[in-house]
Amino acid sequence: MLLDLPRAPLQPLRLSWLAEAGIEAAILRLDLIDPLISGNKSFKLQHHLLAARAAGCRGLISLGGAHSNHLHALAAAGERLGLRTVGLLRGHAQVTPTVIDLQRWGMELHWLGYEGYRQRHREDFWASWQARYPDLLPVPEGGGGLLGAKGCAALRVQVQAQLADIGWDDFEAWWLAVGTGTTLAGLVLAEGGQRRIYGALAVGPGHGVQEQVNALCGERGHTLLDASRGGFAKTDSALLAFMRDCEAEAGIPLEPVYTAKALWALREAATAGVLAAGSRLVFVHTGGLQGWRAAP
Ligand SMILES: *Cc1c(COP(=O)(O)O)cnc(C)c1O
Repeated sequence: MLLDLPRAPLQPLRLSWLAEAGIEAAILRLDLIDPLISGNKSFKLQHHLLAARAAGCRGLISLGGAHSNHLHALAAAGERLGLRTVGLLRGHAQVTPTVIDLQRWGMELHWLGYEGYRQRHREDFWASWQARYPDLLPVPEGGGGLLGAKGCAALRVQVQAQLADIGWDDFEAWWLAVGTGTTLAGLVLAEGGQRRIYGALAVGPGHGVQEQVNALCGERGHTLLDASRGGFAKTDSALLAFMRDCEAEAGIPLEPVYTAKALWALREAATAGVLAAGSRLVFVHTGGLQGWRAAP
């Protein structure tokens, strides 16, 4: 009951503004690992799946929004592995490309409304759902927690194994988009102080992400930067134009909720001299392209 995750390709990332700042970058393409279970969510699910098996559960129950990359990966994994999945959704029933996939893969959906979804942080939130689904393992939002972080150590292994292929002997830092901070925490733990991890926050300030990250992996080895541009999933024409430019120049598909904002923050840091000329870094393409299908 584990996902067989193929190796994500590590490719040179060629962008003029990186070259101008004297920064060499490579991109780990998590968007390419699997046509259905893509991005960082598949890595975050691994140890939740193992825990479900160890506990003798028939499946998993989790929560997310109507475009959730996490629920999408969970539903696809459940279908592939023969596990029952239940999704608790934010807001009121709506049809999105993501929701259509969830239903197609047999995920049972419950729409909690907005107020109901806010209750997820209460201590007794899971009790009634566990009474209703006693043989399903609850998975925190976004596949988070220490189990989620543990699965992301595999990213470091995959990069190490491919450094020689792109002509590198080493690199200094990681750069990636941050939602809950679970993936970043997993990398911090895997690095054990060797390389710094820069996280570009896709959620607005005041969501306690820094505290959450510190609780998972301690206070060292990472830097969080605000990249939310006014809030989660908020976009604007400058961001979208930048995204299209990067897509065209690098030949890589992006989406504006996470990956384009993380690149924007990288450009700001590169042009501001936060990253020294001559440094090498690995940018993690965390996927998320499925969630952007609904956009015009
Ligand atoms: C969920 C997600 C993230 C954030 O991952 P966390 O581990 O929650 O920080 C980043 N990028 C994409 C595309 C995602 O779907």
